[in-house]
Amino acid sequence: MKCPKCGGKMMWERYQEMTDIFAGWHCLNCGEMIDPEIMVNRIFGPVERKKRRGRKRKNG
Ligand SMILES: [Zn+2]
Repeated sequence: MKCPKCGGKMMWERYQEMTDIFAGWHCLNCGEMIDPEIMVNRIFGPVERKKRRGRKRKNG
């Protein structure tokens, strides 16, 4: 795993916040942190909801 910011080495680390434990990538070089959730967003992109405009005019 390479850091997208500086290309440094990243380490998989687990963090604990209160009672929640989560894991993510931590750059040893610049300290960039990447959560799995962020990764998913970067890969698949933010979910964009298309507005539906399916109104049809009725003649008569
Ligand atoms: Zn980095």
